[in-house]
Amino acid sequence: MPVTINKEVCIGCGACVGGCPVGALTLEDTAVCDEATCIDCGACVGTCPVEAISQ
Ligand code: SF4
Ligand code: SF4
Repeated sequence: MPVTINKEVCIGCGACVGGCPVGALTLEDTAVCDEATCIDCGACVGTCPVEAISQ
């Protein structure tokens, strides 16, 4: 399962994008996780200042 990004909480800061080792996260208005690429490692979860990412 890929991570879930709460679009109501995400402020679009981009901090998580560089924290993904496989480049699964991109920034649109909010962060978006590419489900086919995410390996569910959890590295991005702690990078979010507003706890918008859950695993
Ligand atoms: S769980 Fe890992 S692979 Fe998936 S988006 Fe977060 S950092 Fe990237
Ligand atoms: S770090 Fe959190 S608030 Fe920033 S873009 Fe990623 S999910 Fe959104």
